[in-house]
Amino acid sequence: MSFGTFEFTDNVMYVKGVGPRRAASLEKLNIFTKYDLLTHYPRTYENHSSLTKIRDVFEGQTVILVGRVFNVEARDVRNLTIINAWLQDNTGHIRLTWFNQKYLLTKLSDGTRLLIIGKAKYDSWSRGITVNPQSTTILDEDEEPELGIMPVYPSTAAISQKVFRTAVKNLLNSMPTLNEILPQEILSEQQLISLDKAMRAIHFPKDNFELDMARRRLAFDELFLIQCGLMLIKRQTQDERLGINHKKNGELVKAALEKLPFELTGDQKKVFRAVSKDMESKLPMRRLIQGDVGSGKTAVAMLALVKTVENGFQGAFMAPTEILAIQHYEKFSALLNDLGIRVGLLSAKITRSKKSREELYQKISAHELDIVIGTHALIQEGVRFDKLGLVVTDEQHRFGVNQRSTLEKKSDTLPDMLVMTATPIPRTMTLTVYGDLDVSLIKELPPGRKPIKTVAKSIRSRKKIYDFVRAEILAGRQAYVVCPLIERSESETLADIEPAEEIFDMLSNGIFRDIPCALLHGRMKPRDKDEIMEKFRDGETKLLVSTTVIEVGVDVPNASVMVVEHAERFGLAQLHQLRGRVGRGSEKSYCILISDKKSGVSGARLETMESTNDGFKLAEEDLKLRGPGQFFGEAQHGLPDLKIADVFRDLELLIKARDAAEKFITDDDNLNYFANLRQNLALAYGDKFNQIIAS
Ligand code: ADP
Ligand code: MG
Repeated sequence: MSFGTFEFTDNVMYVKGVGPRRAASLEKLNIFTKYDLLTHYPRTYENHSSLTKIRDVFEGQTVILVGRVFNVEARDVRNLTIINAWLQDNTGHIRLTWFNQKYLLTKLSDGTRLLIIGKAKYDSWSRGITVNPQSTTILDEDEEPELGIMPVYPSTAAISQKVFRTAVKNLLNSMPTLNEILPQEILSEQQLISLDKAMRAIHFPKDNFELDMARRRLAFDELFLIQCGLMLIKRQTQDERLGINHKKNGELVKAALEKLPFELTGDQKKVFRAVSKDMESKLPMRRLIQGDVGSGKTAVAMLALVKTVENGFQGAFMAPTEILAIQHYEKFSALLNDLGIRVGLLSAKITRSKKSREELYQKISAHELDIVIGTHALIQEGVRFDKLGLVVTDEQHRFGVNQRSTLEKKSDTLPDMLVMTATPIPRTMTLTVYGDLDVSLIKELPPGRKPIKTVAKSIRSRKKIYDFVRAEILAGRQAYVVCPLIERSESETLADIEPAEEIFDMLSNGIFRDIPCALLHGRMKPRDKDEIMEKFRDGETKLLVSTTVIEVGVDVPNASVMVVEHAERFGLAQLHQLRGRVGRGSEKSYCILISDKKSGVSGARLETMESTNDGFKLAEEDLKLRGPGQFFGEAQHGLPDLKIADVFRDLELLIKARDAAEKFITDDDNLNYFANLRQNLALAYGDKFNQIIAS
């Protein structure tokens, strides 16, 4: 955007009140241009609308005071610097106490004028009321304190709020009226204020109502752009080339259905019908199947793969780990070889030798294999399919959107695509990250599953717990012990956590001395990991101590107990995934969560685990209790990086933005308009947005 002499791309140092020295400090906040400053939105606001007279201050009140300081003293108590002073106005004086704001010392001398905001408390040390300033502004001799709602910016010590406010104010004053970027139609339909008004009000709102309106407008913009991007991806895949027109299910699919050792559940049937319909349509299928661990997603995927083979195409199945790929390969081969379907395995292990790699690639491109199951190795350079009809990716949240599309490009055909995940994905995410996919749910579990008994225990019960585990092992079962860390952490917050290595030593040299135990973690070589996993699967190893590497899909039906150490360190969704490793056989299964934090939020979370086996319920609980970052654990959750909107808090707005985008993107003129909009504003909404658009 350009406005005569005013350019948004101008260096921020040209804003009045900034200059080169402050510009250098602003760089640390990622503010380089005028535009960056404009969109450096306040972190919060302070209501400076009414000053309190010192005479009227009472305990417990949050007050705004203006006065002069005197008797400034500092003392160090352990690591803490405490500054004390008195503040005086024309009605009286009151004590002030700052904690850990040593930098203020040089700025405060007798008679300095201050505006402070803080809470009045009773101080037992001085036996009187003292105010702890949360915000301290030094006023010039003749400066009138600014009243109203004041922005508080994310900042560093080098730039005071006062400097920030002045700079933004100057920027806004020098900025011409912003052009509107949204069509009038949308503005009136969604009752949004203009962009210009919103940008000004987000920094200096007249009142709370204006602030809400500004926030709403800017949040809508972000969400709308993302939704338009997702709609665009969806449209492009539907427009560019025609997808594959699979025929109605025939003999081969029927034969595969008959070969399954069970009857499909109602939900499986429903989902397979939806998948079949998608595959039979000319438009490429883009479908996400969500279902709890063990709900039978893989069975549905297998049938879809058979369907594509029946139509003369090849199918690819991408699993997140080598172990899982092998497991699927074995299951698929056992069922499908009899039907004349040729199943192949493409994994890092197999492609390690150049010769076997080349051979396998050759077989795939010559269509000597019908279904290829693999890991990331499937998207390596060099893998070409003859006629790829369907791509299934398992546990989608571990693959990026880009990997998803790389696999699509492995053939001249535009394959159908099926994505499966066991992580319950909250609605927010199906509307953002997965917004280009249609969603199916499998809620019903196959019959005869015994619910896993989950109990949360304090660390004091450890001995009893492991006695129980030992008894289970002696009765012929196997057990997992999961730990949050591999080795002792240096970090203060994690220092108390016993890592997998130590727990393994303790158990394998102690109570399980006479029982084959193994340690498994993510830092081992893939080859070693596979070997350990194979031994456990074959029942040679009885007890497996591991980190969360076992989280994804391993199937050992004989394992009936899982112990999770330091359970409070895991997200509920993650615990639920972990728990899904047991309860796969005919024996009653147990999940024991050990934690020394049984109170507060941690306690509440573990209780939720005890009370429900419903992954969706858990996901929602966890989101409520801990927020998105925690919910998805360490893994990148892939949510767009938004400056002002919050996809959880603004769910309603998100849905409105989606509906608006849906209408908007159907019109070709609007598509061009959107392309321009994107060029103008991609800058504003960061890389994440560009990634979504580009993929
Ligand atoms: P997911 O992929 O959802 O984790 P799977 O498809 O691997 O689940 O199924 C888990 C287990 O349940 C497998 O051992 C599978 O053979 C079995 N299974 C799947 N569908 C059914 C069904 N309808 N009835 C009985 N068992 C089933
Ligand atoms: Mg699975």
